[in-house]
Amino acid sequence: MSSQPHIVLPWVVRRTRLPLLSVRCVGCPSESATTGEGRFRVNANGKLLDVWLLVRCVSCDRTSKLTVHERVPVRSLDPAELHGYRVNDPELVASRLLDPLLARRNRFTLDWTGAWRLDTPAAWLEEAWPVQVEVVFEDPVPVRPDRLIAQGLGLSRNEVLRRIKCDTPLRRTTSSGFAFVVMAGD
Ligand SMILES: [Zn+2]
Repeated sequence: MSSQPHIVLPWVVRRTRLPLLSVRCVGCPSESATTGEGRFRVNANGKLLDVWLLVRCVSCDRTSKLTVHERVPVRSLDPAELHGYRVNDPELVASRLLDPLLARRNRFTLDWTGAWRLDTPAAWLEEAWPVQVEVVFEDPVPVRPDRLIAQGLGLSRNEVLRRIKCDTPLRRTTSSGFAFVVMAGD
């Protein structure tokens, strides 16, 4: 029997909403905040601009500001981007929130719990083994490949280790696309 997979299945990891932020609240013991509807604040000071993304503690509602731009010359910003800040463009909210630089600068991490899903095609025929699966990330959700594969195939993680061939380390969290081959079961 040939071990070359003849079927390639696409799996897609995508967000279902914006993730929460893991960040300590200065007003209460909570360590979780949300962007809510997504609001920026733009402050012009002469020819310099400050732009913040507002976030709210999920427990006490206290609002805090994440620095997006600090004292940048107005002319250095793309007018379309500036307009996006002024009208709270949801796509701009998402792209700034998911930007690792913003997280580093403002010292928060993203909490993806319950904020994403894995889309897999309908079940395939058992006799079609081996099968190759290509995982694509539409959003930078950090996942452990072994857990994702177990979830997607409905297998135990032991079974995953036995039946999967994969060049990507299965236990190392990743947000980059990868592929694997599922061998037939015993
Ligand atoms: Zn709070």
